[in-house]
Amino acid sequence: MPDPLPSAYRILTAASLPAYLATLPGIPARLGGAPSAWQVRDVADGNLNAVFLVDGPEGGLCVKQALPYVRVVGESWPMDIHRAFFEARYIARVAPFAAGLAPRLHHYDDAQFVMVMDKLAPHTILRRALLEGRHMPRAAADLADYAARASFHTSDLAQPFERRFEDLLVFSRSLALQRITVDLVFTDPFAEHERNRFPRPHLTAWAAALREDAAVKDAVATLRRAYLGKPQSLIHGDLHSGSVMVTPEETRVIDGEFACVGPSGFDIGHVLAHFALAWFARPQGDPLRPLLAADMAVFWDSFRRRFLALWEGAEATGDAFPASHYPGPAGAARMARQRAAYLDDIFADARGFLAVEIIRRIIGFAQVADFQARAGEEERASAMASALAFARSLLVWPERYGDIADLTAALPRFDGAGLDPRPTRPW
Ligand code: ADP
Ligand code: MG
Repeated sequence: MPDPLPSAYRILTAASLPAYLATLPGIPARLGGAPSAWQVRDVADGNLNAVFLVDGPEGGLCVKQALPYVRVVGESWPMDIHRAFFEARYIARVAPFAAGLAPRLHHYDDAQFVMVMDKLAPHTILRRALLEGRHMPRAAADLADYAARASFHTSDLAQPFERRFEDLLVFSRSLALQRITVDLVFTDPFAEHERNRFPRPHLTAWAAALREDAAVKDAVATLRRAYLGKPQSLIHGDLHSGSVMVTPEETRVIDGEFACVGPSGFDIGHVLAHFALAWFARPQGDPLRPLLAADMAVFWDSFRRRFLALWEGAEATGDAFPASHYPGPAGAARMARQRAAYLDDIFADARGFLAVEIIRRIIGFAQVADFQARAGEEERASAMASALAFARSLLVWPERYGDIADLTAALPRFDGAGLDPRPTRPW
């Protein structure tokens, strides 16, 4: 059971926010002027929390407060407010490695479950930009850089195991949100569940086909076990295009409340999944499509290159490969093979998580806005069905997708696969 609400906890409103912020150390100076001059805007467009942007004469801040329930659903779905603690810990833990790619955290209030961070402006949510047909040229490479730095530096490749175990101790207590991932990502979409929100009746047969496909279920079971039992590095846990704010020049990762220690391929698969979802959501011939396919390749290739560069550098002082382990030139060759195998393993995990993420975003509770790019329910459902066909293929025939080029080359093959879930071609 989640801890009871601390008695001092109050839900902030736009009206009560200035007086509250005035009490926090260092915060009034960042805004400047008197609290009465601060402009507050409620911008919560996410699913879970209250978010305000505050502007003063000297600068702007973003204030995020965890609510004791799921914001989009209401009080009927209670949700542990300690998620704010884990988001704040995640930001602080990754900040030394991800300099410049996430907003800075200026204050965390452990009585009100409030984070005060940089206000990102004029940034927009990446998903929104893509929905409007605007390609963001830096996003893929920047996200690769972020993911490589965060996953390398919090792994056994860079850290003594004692340090990683500290992360495990902290983030293993984030039970409520990891429960959501286990249920909403890995479980509900592959069973009959009232929370599943796919368009009916168009995708009813697809939902049943996925539920009844033994090969799909086996692959998902393996991935669920990896999420639960492969503590490789600290992961963001929800790294989709709605958790990324962009301008054409800048990329910032937000919303790390699902952070946990898990398989590094989880975040990688999520980024790829949301580029792929955006690809399927665009109509045929849309100029964004080739750019999104290129983003997938740029993201993976940059991640791999950056991760290897970090591993070959001076900071690879973790316990996984002590310097004494592979001495001499023969050792160097063995080490190179180890590195390649490690990256292949991340890719294999990412390919699976990519597929599960696509499925859960179409069949499950948390739908994505990308498909609004299609007019009409039937056309939207067809685009979703194509994405499902792609995802199922990755789960059932992973050996056909040995590298990123195999993935991007496959996208058009599933385009227009139709609403009938029976495979007509041997994918
Ligand atoms: P939730 O966890 O409820 O999904 P998010 O962290 O995704 O909340 O934030 C919700 C929305 O608030 C984002 O989609 C974005 O529009 C806005 N937002 C969040 N953080 C910032 C920030 N640092 N600067 C500006 N806007 C932000
Ligand atoms: Mg969130």
